[in-house]
Amino acid sequence: MVSFLKSFAGVTDLSPDARVQVFRSFFSAPGEFDNLSVDAYVVITERCVVFCDTLLCPEDMRLVCEALSDDVMKGKQLLVIYSHADWDHVWGTHYLLERYTPVIIGHEHCRTRLLSVEEKRLLHEYQENFAVFRPVVLVPPAITFRDGLNIYGGDLTLELFSAPGHQMDQIAGWIPEIQLLLAFDALEYPLPGIGAPELVLDMFRTLERFRELQPTCVLCSHGNMASPLLIEQNSRYLREIESRSRALLARQLVSEDEMAEPAQLIGYSYAEATGVVREQIDHVYYEYTHAENIRCMLRWLLSMAT
Ligand SMILES: [Zn+2]
Repeated sequence: MVSFLKSFAGVTDLSPDARVQVFRSFFSAPGEFDNLSVDAYVVITERCVVFCDTLLCPEDMRLVCEALSDDVMKGKQLLVIYSHADWDHVWGTHYLLERYTPVIIGHEHCRTRLLSVEEKRLLHEYQENFAVFRPVVLVPPAITFRDGLNIYGGDLTLELFSAPGHQMDQIAGWIPEIQLLLAFDALEYPLPGIGAPELVLDMFRTLERFRELQPTCVLCSHGNMASPLLIEQNSRYLREIESRSRALLARQLVSEDEMAEPAQLIGYSYAEATGVVREQIDHVYYEYTHAENIRCMLRWLLSMAT
């Protein structure tokens, strides 16, 4: 067993509308997680209550349900939306299944991932290390989509659409009535994470689609941010990686061995990429993500050159 700190909070100063509530789970474990913080949303419409992600563990969802006032769910269809299959977004579902009968919706590839041996292995590993994950059960979505799916709640519409880049199964949600974009992990503060070299182009396209929506408010799962400026900031960061990677490859070829220190290789340090970080974030994770982003970009550019 590894020692850890786990906490939970309702977040009242991010959402622009009382019908979209934000809940946050925190997890710290020495050497592994330095204050990981993840947000989930509950969208309360006339016809249905939509849980957008289920946080880290069933206990988190118990606290979410407790925080919602009693009659919020009464007589309404309960839906669960998975933003993608990463563990920090979908491991709390079992609590809802034990008490209610929600319909679970996600991308087709999210279902594939949640049924995979890799995700089972990951859960097993976490359960061995941390008692808090013992009650977790992997629950794949029952309804899946590839491009998009609309939920008509009456007063609010939730337009779900594929937003690949961070992961292939990443989706985002757009609520046109209040011009709110739920970006989940497709945007991130201080920097986004590209899932694989073949997702680089998807990432740029997803950010372009976000820009075209012209949201007045953007919520993302990590980083305590709600500003639409994050779309520009994330795009600029990725374009910077692209241009410095292209400049390097114009000068020399790069082997896999040389990618051990990618930030140094293209001359774009973590400190320069993030600037002044106002929030308490997991710097170990983001420094690793910055290095991985550069590797993805270099591998993608190299694959196009051959
Ligand atoms: Zn995440």
